[in-house]
Amino acid sequence: MSPAGKLLEWYRRHGRDLPWRSTRDPYRILVSEIMLQQTQVDRVKEYYRAWLKQFPTWKKLAGASNADVIHAWAGLGYNRRALMLRDVARSVVEHGVPKTEQTWLAIKGIGPYTAAAVSAFAQQKRTLPIDTNIRRILGRLLLGKPFTELKDDETIRSKADDFLPRRGAYYDVPQAIFDLATSICTKNPDCASCPLRQDCKAAKLFLSGRVKIPKRSVPVARERKHRNKPFPDRIYRGRILKFVRERGQVSSLRLGQMIDPDFDKHLDQEWLEAMINRLVVDGLLARTPKKVILPKG
Ligand code: SF4
Repeated sequence: MSPAGKLLEWYRRHGRDLPWRSTRDPYRILVSEIMLQQTQVDRVKEYYRAWLKQFPTWKKLAGASNADVIHAWAGLGYNRRALMLRDVARSVVEHGVPKTEQTWLAIKGIGPYTAAAVSAFAQQKRTLPIDTNIRRILGRLLLGKPFTELKDDETIRSKADDFLPRRGAYYDVPQAIFDLATSICTKNPDCASCPLRQDCKAAKLFLSGRVKIPKRSVPVARERKHRNKPFPDRIYRGRILKFVRERGQVSSLRLGQMIDPDFDKHLDQEWLEAMINRLVVDGLLARTPKKVILPKG
């Protein structure tokens, strides 16, 4: 049996039951893919259902205001994704659902991974949505590299060409890799339980115990922090947005104390202004002379 065949057999028995796996509708697939960027699967499950209840179609989402989508996204984080998703819906309503990976990619906000994901998962195209899991597993399986992720997408595509089935299973193969990556082929892989152990070029290395597991295989991005603040700026931006979302509007003068009890108007005002301005530029907030409010539109 081919390596992909073994993987698919394993996936049929052990694949996760996720709500977005029972649809091939491009809208639903796109919603799940955007939510899954930088958010855990369990958290996305709750939001995915609620979002589809509120915005069941491209048209419904396209007609939503900034405030509507910011409210619906509350708690998922990285709020710009909500506005981007709404803007994609507006583009689809105006121009129709893209038919190819290239035309998905032409929509503002859709990157190479998402374009490939919708093409493969919703439109049954033979393409590979390349994320960190695919990089790690194919690097091990096809190149025997225990921790070096393949960086160059073209190399991955050419290496994966023989691995991907010629027909069908364009949905199942990447989904199976995602599940293998979270359950077996983790940073410290359990090769003895892996359906690909006979085919994997890194399996012997791991099984012999000769591989030293690094403390961190992926460097953690350094997040910007202001002077002695305990949290990175994104946490405080999240608090600003939360207060404005809950109250509809907040006095600019009070906002500093609300997001940080140690706020010092001499040392921190510029920092606060920069964070508000960034949220305004991102379309998540708007300003009046004295208040910070949710944007219209
Ligand atoms: S054999 Fe080991 S390293 Fe290779 S894909 Fe399976 S779990 Fe990963």
